[in-house]
Amino acid sequence: MATDLEIVCVPALSDNYVWLIHDPVSNETVVVDPSEAAPVLAAADERGWTISQIWNTHWHGDHTGGNAAIKALGAKVSGPLAEADRIPTLDTGLREGDSVQIGAHVARVMETPGHTAGHIVFHMADDALLFSGDTLFAMGCGRLFEGTAAQMFTNMQRLADLPGDTAVYCAHEYTASNGRYAAVAEPDNAAVAERMRDVDASRAAGRPTVPTTIALEQATNPFLRASSTEQLAERRAAKDAFRG
Ligand code: ZN
Ligand code: FE
Repeated sequence: MATDLEIVCVPALSDNYVWLIHDPVSNETVVVDPSEAAPVLAAADERGWTISQIWNTHWHGDHTGGNAAIKALGAKVSGPLAEADRIPTLDTGLREGDSVQIGAHVARVMETPGHTAGHIVFHMADDALLFSGDTLFAMGCGRLFEGTAAQMFTNMQRLADLPGDTAVYCAHEYTASNGRYAAVAEPDNAAVAERMRDVDASRAAGRPTVPTTIALEQATNPFLRASSTEQLAERRAAKDAFRG
């Protein structure tokens, strides 16, 4: 499904992607996971946009570092209720099934614990968009810092069930490294090899490899494709040790 929302990629820190979402109807602008404020505010200013909301997926500094400076200009911060004590700028705590809105566009919250204990993702079903933070990456998933492989397996199963045309906006450019591991995990998967040609071309040209889609992840992501908790655990451990 096509969306009339405008989405702008703001590269931040070494490999973060911060996403600006702008609704031309309400003229509202949301920022997802602002690592830092300066490049985000510059990108908004350039377009004449005023950021009214911050949506955080989890407490890590590379996702919340810009909160205070953007909030000081009037934005309201929504993020995981379960991490309220670690996100001091939080205005509204969100749980599974809660929703936030930009103009008339609704984002529903899914709790996806694993990378952090309270990690959430934002699913905009009518716009076919998913802001997946550090839970689902292009050909990867988040490291398990505060959760279990069983939790991440459940997350992957739930996200795999979203419509295939859902555009997935994750928070890091990890695709080349993830893809090199995917080729080891599934050496016979022709879709991985084919995708890596596109990824290498994009990176060589300095272009982001994100967004991806749920359909592309169903075909190429060794974590989304894991058939059991055990297989996901094994792949996560192998990726953590992988130097490709
Ligand atoms: Zn993180
Ligand atoms: Fe991160």
